[in-house]
Amino acid sequence: MSGSTQNFDAVVIGAGFSGMHMLKSLRDKLGLKVRVYEAGETVGGTWYWNRYPGARCDSDSYIYCFTWDRQLLQEWEWSERYPEQPEILRYLEHVAKRHDLKRDIQFNTRVIGAEFDETTNLWTVHTDKGEDVTARYLIAGVGTLSTTNMPSFKGLETFKGKWYHTSRFPHSGVDFTAKRVAVVGTGATAVQAIPEIAQQSKQLTVFQRTANYCVPARNGKVDPELVKARKADYDAVVKRVRESPFGQERYAIPKSVLETTPEEREREFDRMWDAGGFDFWIANYQDMLVDQAANEVCADYIRRKIRKTVKDPSVAERLMPKGHAYGTKRQPLDTNYYETFNKDNVLLVDASTDGPIEEITENGIRAGGKDYEFDIIVFATGFDAMTGPLKALNLKGRGGRTLDQEWADGPHTYLGISVAGFPNLFTITGPQSPSVLSNMPVSIEQHVEWITDCIDAMRSAGKTTIEATPRAQDEWVAHVNETIAGTLMTSANSWYMGANIAGKPRAFLPYLDPEGVGGYRKRCDEIAAKGYEGFALA
Ligand SMILES: Cc1cc2nc3c(=O)[nH]c(=O)nc-3n(C[C@H](O)[C@H](O)[C@H](O)COP(=O)(O)OP(=O)(O)OC[C@H]3O[C@@H](n4cnc5c(N)ncnc54)[C@H](O)[C@@H]3O)c2cc1C
Repeated sequence: MSGSTQNFDAVVIGAGFSGMHMLKSLRDKLGLKVRVYEAGETVGGTWYWNRYPGARCDSDSYIYCFTWDRQLLQEWEWSERYPEQPEILRYLEHVAKRHDLKRDIQFNTRVIGAEFDETTNLWTVHTDKGEDVTARYLIAGVGTLSTTNMPSFKGLETFKGKWYHTSRFPHSGVDFTAKRVAVVGTGATAVQAIPEIAQQSKQLTVFQRTANYCVPARNGKVDPELVKARKADYDAVVKRVRESPFGQERYAIPKSVLETTPEEREREFDRMWDAGGFDFWIANYQDMLVDQAANEVCADYIRRKIRKTVKDPSVAERLMPKGHAYGTKRQPLDTNYYETFNKDNVLLVDASTDGPIEEITENGIRAGGKDYEFDIIVFATGFDAMTGPLKALNLKGRGGRTLDQEWADGPHTYLGISVAGFPNLFTITGPQSPSVLSNMPVSIEQHVEWITDCIDAMRSAGKTTIEATPRAQDEWVAHVNETIAGTLMTSANSWYMGANIAGKPRAFLPYLDPEGVGGYRKRCDEIAAKGYEGFALA
């Protein structure tokens, strides 16, 4: 450590959507002295790191952007319904330039620890560049899907070919031409990457642990008239998504699927299927995620689609999800995913029928006692979601307590934005907030606005610390768990439940507000209006 100490009003960690907006807000609205630390070499977060073939957003582009720059909403032209990673990164670079954000961001710098000093009421933040700085407020904009999950496969170090994790793809790209390629995983990332890699490679083998329910994305150019109409209506669009269930203009059908005739629901399912995107997941019949029988009706529709699309019945059978309810895992949006398995150069190796991966060998992968040879292995094995990046910060709150200790049995937060015993720490889209169950920019903006107002209110009232009370936190955790207990979400081995990481406690990580992100926003605002109920201010 260098020993030289700089003081800031606020340190923000991460320069993705969250950190960029937080910086803009604290610096330009409140006039605070802010330092942002970012491990990557530029802004963008998710869109800086995830460069695998086919990487693109699944949220519609007209709402997958910042809404606080209304002028830019008018000026920016997205090329497609779901733009690719380079285009989203270009957009975020443009925002950084337009608002002169980079002058307060230190890139290529990872925060490796921070502790709260109970005598000065300041955080001391340590970086991997040997800096120690102090700040009154510490704001984690570290993302929910930013800590790579790379399972420790036996023998990986012996593999003579090249291997990559999708979230750390080389910036120069990977040439798959004439190569024998393996993709390990069939989650949302893999579903985007597999059709692209199949086109580029000589031979592609997909290693599937759990078959997923994929629905069509229906990407393409957006009708210019629709773009124009949305631009003319942006204020209302923003209001609607902020008050919506999932941060999108999508609403469940207020009816049980079990009360419909087969013809009626088939018509509705076809409509959603043809529209593409998240309709099938979040604008389905209202009991789809709460009633097993209702869920099965929706799941059956997707299984029939798989059966119809995939020509080889035994491959179709293995691609058909079994053992988990539809919608209880992150919904993958696909472009020719199922069709890809009709190609002669594509092979499916399914853990339950063909045998699981046993080890990586010099020449490839051994699964179910059989050897497969590869030049390249792509691991699409996801992330240590939500708690991973926060725990990695090595924070020490009051009495030197760490998040590892506080969260030994799963996250404990108040509103997903603060943690008892960690004063003046704010977590943007933290665990137990709607976050990953919503169109994220909507949830990010809500947290950034709330944090900004909170700090502003504290300063006006001459308060130096704010922290969740243990009681409010306990009540929030109980509420999050009660809310989700009435759904099918806890039944799946999903990353929402922490089930993708060996040894991670089984707990539902985000928060599903019965009244959607609109209801959650209202709840947070009411708490603020009541003088930050459930928080202790000093
Ligand atoms: C492939 C992919 C596709 C996605 N598609 C969608 C979508 O369609 N719709 C949607 O709503 N969401 C999507 N998401 C979620 C996406 O993460 C969010 O939409 C959004 O980009 C999150 O922004 P963020 O700033 O909160 O986090 P991130 O973009 O993850 O940025 C966090 C940043 O913090 C940095 N950081 C973390 N720890 C440290 C540290 N200790 N020190 C310094 N820096 C640190 C990281 O380097 C990273 O750059 C997707 C995620 C992935 C991975």
